[in-house]
Amino acid sequence: MTQQTDMTELHWLFDMLQHIDAGLVVINEKYEVELWNGFMENHSGVSSSNARNRSLFEIFPTINQSWLQQKLDNALALRTPIYVSWEQRPHMFPFKSYRSVTSIADTMFQNVVIRPINNANGTVNHLCLVVYDVTDVAVNKAALSAANRKLDQMSKTDGLTELNNRASLDRAMKLTFDSFAMGNSGPHCLVMADIDHFKRVNDSYGHPIGDIVLQEMAKILSSGSRRGDFVGRYGGEEFAVLLLNTDKNGAQVYCEKIREQVEQRVFNTSKGDIKITVSLGCSEIGKQHETIEQWIESADSALYQAKHNGRNQTVIAD
Ligand code: GH3
Ligand code: MG
Ligand code: MG
Repeated sequence: MTQQTDMTELHWLFDMLQHIDAGLVVINEKYEVELWNGFMENHSGVSSSNARNRSLFEIFPTINQSWLQQKLDNALALRTPIYVSWEQRPHMFPFKSYRSVTSIADTMFQNVVIRPINNANGTVNHLCLVVYDVTDVAVNKAALSAANRKLDQMSKTDGLTELNNRASLDRAMKLTFDSFAMGNSGPHCLVMADIDHFKRVNDSYGHPIGDIVLQEMAKILSSGSRRGDFVGRYGGEEFAVLLLNTDKNGAQVYCEKIREQVEQRVFNTSKGDIKITVSLGCSEIGKQHETIEQWIESADSALYQAKHNGRNQTVIAD
């Protein structure tokens, strides 16, 4: 009666292991498969009877043999389980993923536990590999970090123009100022650019058209800059550009190039063609600037001077 019960339980157990949603493989010291459950059959396409007595490395020639062999040998020698997580190595067995609907994963991500099997007499000469499909976890994590990157980027970017926003401009200016103050870098220039009579654009064509002009203006500033320059929207229709490792002569060239491009540009909009001009003020950082505010102030006054002198021009602070 008890024996009958034992047999029944064993049968159940075997049935469950056969159909459990994890891979089960038993191998011997020569890495030959002795047991292979349904999960392994389904995902590898190799039946249990075909897998038996064949080396794992023969069944899966793409497995990094020296890497896995070392793990297996360690588990046997130390008689201790070894874990291989998907974060260390996305998969051990090259299985396709049927779960993920996204294109991030067409291969199954796996956590694998390599566990020594104790014989009745205490010796160990077999290992059990338990393979968990963790594709969902991996894909969620990837989606999460993509979302975080996006959020991070959004917090630094001006929504309308996609330039750096005021907060990241402030950070970049502070880094630049500190690095110059410590004698670590320079020369650097700060350019303030403000569209002339922009209120008229809004008044004549409406705010949405004004927005389009701001976006186009942002493109002109960006495409005129070099890699490493820092272009941002300072606020409203005012932009700031940090020209790193550029002296005031270089900055003058940049400013005039931008000014001329804007002057020559015809903005074709749904409400008609618009022409604008821009005024620019520039200040090269120097020892006379004791605080970052003084540096910004100096670029601001140069801009004010440009407006005062009749707009559509560049003034470099001296
Ligand atoms: P000035 O030549 O002296 O710079 O004249 P201005 O008209 O450009 O300057 P003012 O500061 O009087 O006006 C700035 C205008 O910019 C007013 C404001 O409505 C507009 N503005 C600020 N931010 C935005 C925006 O995000 N979109 C639009 N369409 N307009 C904006
Ligand atoms: Mg303006
Ligand atoms: Mg303004």
